[in-house]
Amino acid sequence: MFPVMTVIPEILSLRNVTKVYANGSRTLTVLHEVSLSIVAGTTCAIIGPSGSGKTTLLGLCAGLDRPTSGEVYVDGQLLNGLSEDGLAAMRNRSVGFVFQSFQLLPTLTALENVMVPLELRGDRQAHSLAAALLERVGLGDRLQHYPAQLSGGEQQRIAIARAFIHQPRILFADEPTGNLDDDTSAQIIQLLFTLNQEVGTTLVLVTHDAELAQRTQRIIRLRGGCIVDDWPLRCSDQIGESINRGNGDFRNAISHSSSLNSPAHRFSGSSKEKRELDS
Ligand code: ADP
Ligand code: MG
Repeated sequence: MFPVMTVIPEILSLRNVTKVYANGSRTLTVLHEVSLSIVAGTTCAIIGPSGSGKTTLLGLCAGLDRPTSGEVYVDGQLLNGLSEDGLAAMRNRSVGFVFQSFQLLPTLTALENVMVPLELRGDRQAHSLAAALLERVGLGDRLQHYPAQLSGGEQQRIAIARAFIHQPRILFADEPTGNLDDDTSAQIIQLLFTLNQEVGTTLVLVTHDAELAQRTQRIIRLRGGCIVDDWPLRCSDQIGESINRGNGDFRNAISHSSSLNSPAHRFSGSSKEKRELDS
């Protein structure tokens, strides 16, 4: 009998990624030889204290910034060496990004903001698809509003619609609820997970919110630019479901992981441990 093949499709892979900023004559190493891989269709939280390099890491993963050394692969493509246009094309093909501060274009309406990624592709259905997605996120009656005329939660829903409109294979969200009140945060989180489940988009989010982190299948903790903890995927059934949802090609993928070591297990009991999650 032949052994069963284990195929783990990786949507994102970093190898020995270092980021150094130069400030005058001084240099600051913000990420030290970070290596990680993320399985397609899964959800992952990146946590860690302020200044630990979370935003820098997310920017490198999304091709918004370049590492000083090391390799970044997104959707099987090595980003090192791509031109700015090449990176932009890669992002438009594979990546969505939700910023903490929304970063909507102030001179465009809600509808126009969401249309941008599709218009860059020359998609003739940009208008109708953007209107439908805005309807879906509960903003069907705000299509012609400008960002300044909308609440924080509404702006973030528009930013999420913009990040999902081109059905990216991986979506990054940098503290997506950091500027929102509790009720609005809950709606935004629900929206992100619902879209992850419906579309099969891989979700990587930076958060200070321990409850949000625990809803993901994997938690990575950064400190001082290094990964100091990496609690593995929660259970193989979830991975299998995610893979099957996300891409029929991966339907035969088999994976395994230790549910005993999962974030859910580690943080099921003590509130002290829960607090430590965010330290
Ligand atoms: P986090 O998101 O975890 O709070 P960041 O990735 O934003 O951390 O920043 C990590 C460190 O890198 C911080 O000390 C910050 O001051 C520094 N840093 C970030 N961006 C720059 C930059 N463009 N130039 C110099 N230093 C930077
Ligand atoms: Mg940050």
